[in-house]
Amino acid sequence: MKINRLNPFLICAAAMAAPIAMAQQDFSKVEIATEKLSATTYMMTGAGGNLGLSIGEDAVFLIDDQFAPLTPKITAAIAKLTDKPVRFVLNTHWHFDHTGGNENVGKAGAVIVAHENVRKRLSVEGFIEFFGMKTSAEPRIALPVVTFTRDLSFHINGDEVYAYHVPKAHTDGDVVVHFKNSNVIHMGDTFFNKLYPFIDSSSGGTVDGVIAAVDRVLRIAGDGTKIIPGHGPLGNKADLKVYRDMLAAVSGRIKGQIRQGKKLEEVVAAKPTADFDAVWGKGFLAPEKFVEMLYGNLKKK
Ligand SMILES: [Zn+2]
Repeated sequence: MKINRLNPFLICAAAMAAPIAMAQQDFSKVEIATEKLSATTYMMTGAGGNLGLSIGEDAVFLIDDQFAPLTPKITAAIAKLTDKPVRFVLNTHWHFDHTGGNENVGKAGAVIVAHENVRKRLSVEGFIEFFGMKTSAEPRIALPVVTFTRDLSFHINGDEVYAYHVPKAHTDGDVVVHFKNSNVIHMGDTFFNKLYPFIDSSSGGTVDGVIAAVDRVLRIAGDGTKIIPGHGPLGNKADLKVYRDMLAAVSGRIKGQIRQGKKLEEVVAAKPTADFDAVWGKGFLAPEKFVEMLYGNLKKK
């Protein structure tokens, strides 16, 4: 996805995984790391959203595709594991650090699948208000060709890959993907592991929707389930529970302050994240920015 107007710091912040590379718009130093999670599933990291893969006897099923310049590196990393082609690419949501490779994978013949709101948002100019970031409409080849509203399953590589929509969460088009036989779940950006999360209010996201999405995963995950976050290291159910508790605590405090009529400056000054900053505040969103984002999101309701 092309970014029309951007502050290099902000795109760096939004892209997160390789801040220095992003600030320079230079992906040449980015390396794709592969972590095997089960007999057929993998997590890959580079720059942008974490990738999830199923690789086996049928074909390659890929979750998200980071940035266009990284497609050759991602393809090379996959080729180390299999000679089979990427047949499906599932986008967890529309953000450019998860869909930037869509044009390349579409041209290479993969079937792109997503919630219908992902296609809608990629089809037109976009705007991520919190970062003041405009995005341009994607060409047809980059758009999902299979869309759904609620859920769907892929039967591939001996697994049942169940993808379901979680409403009004990080955006209005998020899906969570459950590799049922592999005991692996990819949560897209409804889960940031050990980083304060971004919630895109201007794309229909809400903090309560994120918490609801997390609660649903907590109900289906077991202690041994491997959980791929949109950003941050591989997690598990305990990590997700801690994330849920942090989100509920901080948003609860801010809700209370909004009810008392407190202004943003007052809420920031009250430091409602103080006891969480050591773990969560060192990554992508600084504590004050996280508070500002939640305040805006909760005020909007
Ligand atoms: Zn996102």
